[in-house]
Amino acid sequence: MSLLSVRDLEVQYEVEDGYVRAVDGVSFDIETESIVGVLGESGCGKSTLAKAIIGGLPDNAVIPSGEITFDGTDLAAISDERMREIRWEQIAYVPQSAMGSLDPVYTIQQQLTETILAHRSDVSKQDCIERAKEVLDLVGISPSRLKSYPHQLSGGMRQRVLLAMSLLLEPELIIADEPTTGLDVLLRDKILNDIETYRDEFGISVIFVSHDIADLVETSEFIIEMYGGKITEKGPSKTMFDQPVHPYTIGLKNSLPDLASSTEEMIAMKMQPPNLHNPPEGCRFINKCPFAEAECETAHPEFREERQGIHSACYRAGESDLMRGEAAEVDWSNVD
Ligand code: ATP
Ligand code: MG
Repeated sequence: MSLLSVRDLEVQYEVEDGYVRAVDGVSFDIETESIVGVLGESGCGKSTLAKAIIGGLPDNAVIPSGEITFDGTDLAAISDERMREIRWEQIAYVPQSAMGSLDPVYTIQQQLTETILAHRSDVSKQDCIERAKEVLDLVGISPSRLKSYPHQLSGGMRQRVLLAMSLLLEPELIIADEPTTGLDVLLRDKILNDIETYRDEFGISVIFVSHDIADLVETSEFIIEMYGGKITEKGPSKTMFDQPVHPYTIGLKNSLPDLASSTEEMIAMKMQPPNLHNPPEGCRFINKCPFAEAECETAHPEFREERQGIHSACYRAGESDLMRGEAAEVDWSNVD
């Protein structure tokens, strides 16, 4: 049995004139001691998916259908109280905005010890402080920072404090939402290394959310790629990166700067979020896809296994060799 199993999950936000279909029929599994990347550009539903798993969706969100099974428990069906018990203790969530997630009026020490005490009434304050020092050390922050308030720390440090907090109670799963975004290259490397350490030393599984395919290929053994609330491609990361099947993956890979010939102009896809309010008829990716044909206008393609564990939702998946071959020549800026 997988540690986490998500089946046909739908998450919608109620807005003035209807619903935003932020997560639309998403299914995947996370095994114990694995690192799984969730890839996709801004607005494709990554954070919504993460928040749905941890029970942290805002009030205007609804889950019309789907199952989120963690360790045999359906998280979509449990009480708020049970979810509070599971949070931090079994699943920790490191949110996207480090500043907004730390309470400005409490020191780092107060916030770390409170997180422990909320779950473990039998632990002394001194033991909490020791544990807080231990986890800060793991993310490379000096214990002297325990007395600091969030605003006294840099953005990168706050991000690492949140990662430290996620380790406090040794959960089985950590969901890290864009932990490397906006960080310089050294910090990025440190966090990528840390994520691997959590898995290798503590046996923690990690869902690593990022819009950066390079970050995910470096750390994750499996990647789930989303576009417009739907999974476009998923599979073992190396296979998926080396021979992408879905045009979206082909485009993301193609938009990476070519290190070997840095003078060559980078062909990038415009980072325009998909319209989830009135999604296009047919394939969600149609307005961006340089390979779209008439068939793509009919309905969103079925998700199916293409090869070597790679699943993809594309009518032209069988022609991926051809699409990869043409990737450098086609126009990726064809956005709606
Ligand atoms: P980013 O990379 O920018 O963090 P994301 O992939 O995490 O993007 P989400 O934050 O999950 O995307 O947003 C998915 C969609 O849901 C977007 O269209 C967003 O505008 C919409 N959305 C998010 N939160 C709400 C909300 N509370 N009410 C209405 N719509 C929302
Ligand atoms: Mg997000």
